[in-house]
Amino acid sequence: MDAGSNQIDSRWVMDLFRSVGVLQEGHFLLTSGRHSARYLQCARLLQYPAHTAKLCSTLASFFSGRGVEVVVGPAIGAIIIAYETARALGARALFAEREGGRMCLRRGFSIAPGEKVLVVEDVVTTGGSVREVVDLVREQGADVVGVGVLVDRSGGKVDFGTDLAALVRMQIQAYLPEECPLCRRGLELVKPGSRQLPGETRGPCSRKGDAGWKQ
Ligand SMILES: [Zn+2]
Repeated sequence: MDAGSNQIDSRWVMDLFRSVGVLQEGHFLLTSGRHSARYLQCARLLQYPAHTAKLCSTLASFFSGRGVEVVVGPAIGAIIIAYETARALGARALFAEREGGRMCLRRGFSIAPGEKVLVVEDVVTTGGSVREVVDLVREQGADVVGVGVLVDRSGGKVDFGTDLAALVRMQIQAYLPEECPLCRRGLELVKPGSRQLPGETRGPCSRKGDAGWKQ
């Protein structure tokens, strides 16, 4: 299968994202100060092991038959994604993390020269963290067979020098407040995450709750 093509019907993924609050639609104030009509929080998906397993096994299917031995992604967002994708591929699951600003393997993790490695991530926008992990894998002398992400927000702008598979490709436009069409329509501006889904309650440390996650 050509991992670069989006062969799955991504509508069920979008429906799932909406139903568990990964994709929120409205009028949001981003940390950059810009406004947007959509907000993504993949951590919300990872609350649900069954949903996570289904998405990760779909992601894994793009790379089945490629001999993947190791799945690795950047902490925190990709730890569970790497684990579930590795389970589907019968591979080992690792995560990379920053130490002194540099992405590295800690905790006794290692990748052997020649191992076939799939790099995964929740959301790719500029691709900076993924690129660092790809470089890290190549520095070990291992073979990057591809990159798999749940959501590609790059608009086709990222190139990791290997196959890229995404369950969903979407762009989220951010507006300067003075140019925001949602403001012009008089829609209430909210901070992301300030609305709960039915049955959800706010955690005790909600203001700090997104630390370590991309928005
Ligand atoms: Zn606005």
